[in-house]
Amino acid sequence: MAKDYYQILGVDKNASQEDIKKAFRTLARKYHPDMNPDNKKEAEEKFKEIGEAYEVLSDENKKRMYDQTGSADFGQGSSNFTWDNFSHFNDFEDIFSRIFGGNFGSSQGFGGFGRQEPELDLALRMTVSMEEAYHGAKKEVKYKRNAPCEACNGTGAKNGRLVTCPTCGGSGQQRVVQGQGFFKMVSVTTCRTCNGRGKVPEEPCPVCKGSGTVVVNENLTVNVPAGARDGLRIRFKGKGQSQNGYVGDLYIVLSVRPENGITRKEDDLYVSRDISFPEAALGTEIGIDIYGDKHTLQIPPGTQPGEILRIRNAGMPHMSNKGSGDLYVQVKVVVPKHLNSKQRELITQLIDESDKKRFWGH
Ligand SMILES: [Zn+2]
Ligand SMILES: [Zn+2]
Repeated sequence: MAKDYYQILGVDKNASQEDIKKAFRTLARKYHPDMNPDNKKEAEEKFKEIGEAYEVLSDENKKRMYDQTGSADFGQGSSNFTWDNFSHFNDFEDIFSRIFGGNFGSSQGFGGFGRQEPELDLALRMTVSMEEAYHGAKKEVKYKRNAPCEACNGTGAKNGRLVTCPTCGGSGQQRVVQGQGFFKMVSVTTCRTCNGRGKVPEEPCPVCKGSGTVVVNENLTVNVPAGARDGLRIRFKGKGQSQNGYVGDLYIVLSVRPENGITRKEDDLYVSRDISFPEAALGTEIGIDIYGDKHTLQIPPGTQPGEILRIRNAGMPHMSNKGSGDLYVQVKVVVPKHLNSKQRELITQLIDESDKKRFWGH
């Protein structure tokens, strides 16, 4: 059963974009996990739900689709909503600046809230061809990471037994006194013995030697969605680095390799094709093959050099909804450099009196 996004945001189906935005902001502020320290988990769930609803209802295309089908499953992303797909950075800016005093976004980056060690995230760049981006592809990725040690559940302790850290007494912090006499300065730092955990292994785990992590070779299959764009980030939750019981995420960042002879702008594709002068004058039909999808283009009589013709829905597939961009074909009229005598004779016959008058430009 699909979620009722209107109900989640508390607006009715005829609500304007302004109303939707207003409702979202009010709720996002109310349920932000940092504003709900007592029931963080619940607030975070609610917060995500609000974000998901807003992501759909604030986008006219997604909203229409949702209204028509009652589903937010656009084939990719939405069914397992992640903040990384969330495109409304600006709508959040003032919410976060109120909560964090304006520092948000500079160091931690988006998606960092609620996570204590965002530096454990890994990013790997993956290059795909234009054809793979067009059809979608499954690609293998191999990499190494520090994964939680299974023998000790990431605790670093043999049999999982931990004791209070003797250095910090369990607080996870160390007070460092600097300077002398009157000018003493006390600073609080993370305890180095326990890395801030407040607990240390009673006996180190023999598998990971107390570190809680082991180096593993990961082998993942990345589903590159049809229509994938350059810079798309695909998230693998919990596949980043592990440390102190925290696990980061892996981000696959796509690079779509540019290809000769085909240009992409958003989801539209641009190609050019040569035709002869007689074909341009009389009109013709040409076939265009885009990665195995064959299209027929009618060149109307009198087509001018450089004219751009469009084939609807023959471009890149849209990643977030059905359909495709358009294919634009620029027609180049080729003037032959060498003529045989018969061609020369035929072309000469085409020169009429009006052409001769053009000599003086009038
Ligand atoms: Zn300690
Ligand atoms: Zn271990």
